[in-house]
Amino acid sequence: IRTPLTVLAGFVETLQNLPLDANEQSKYLSLMARQAQRMQTLVEDLLTLSRLEGSPLPGTEPTPLSVFWIALREEALALDQAMAGLLGGLHRIEFDPVDVGAVELLGQRGELQSAMSNLVANALRYTPSSGSVKVSWHQTEAGAGVFTVTDDGPGIAPAHLPRITERFYRVDRSRSRETGGTGLGLSIVKHVVQRHQGELTIESQPGLGSRFIITLPANRVRALPETSVAPGLGAQHPREQHAQ
Ligand code: ADP
Repeated sequence: IRTPLTVLAGFVETLQNLPLDANEQSKYLSLMARQAQRMQTLVEDLLTLSRLEGSPLPGTEPTPLSVFWIALREEALALDQAMAGLLGGLHRIEFDPVDVGAVELLGQRGELQSAMSNLVANALRYTPSSGSVKVSWHQTEAGAGVFTVTDDGPGIAPAHLPRITERFYRVDRSRSRETGGTGLGLSIVKHVVQRHQGELTIESQPGLGSRFIITLPANRVRALPETSVAPGLGAQHPREQHAQ
């Protein structure tokens, strides 16, 4: 918080003390807006973490996995569009439809949604635009739910892996800043997953890509009666068809 605040205060001082023309002023104002935005994201993430710490353990409110899937897919495509300018192109994004319509998850909907969406967003943010991101789901024989996000981005060196879910831990600070990171995303994911008695596993090979896996225990995953499968879930987004 201090860094963007210091930068912002510096710009305010400049604007107060230097006679700048309209062009220069607008340049400074957009730099200030970016710092303010950065602080906003940081404060939101910090509040999310402290809310997670202070709130009672999640209950067993049921949400069809298809509901998460539709929101995740929309969000991923929107984020990818928004980032296209920055990274110079679109990713190949695949959402595995297998089994998604058959189950519901039991837990705090908003928390689960944000954990899954954080992993998808990271995969998109850290993978160059020529790369691909795959989101999949399966259930183990014992009934545990396994949500996986796989990318073929830069990967994470083994030395960083044990620390990557720590607060503010970032492998490459400049790249994180470029992509609007706070270093809090994975701590939030880990927290949410643990609150649901699940596990976050990270597998990565530098240069080849990363795989982030959320495993939810069997008592957080329940089969849906066949009739309640969301209509049209199997339909593909035109972009995905194009990508395949
Ligand atoms: P940030 O806000 O910096 O993205 P996170 O807690 O979400 O913070 O992630 C921590 C760090 O883990 C990131 O800065 C990045 O270095 C690394 N990271 C996360 N996801 C990926 C990924 N899919 N591929 C490569 N590195 C990743």
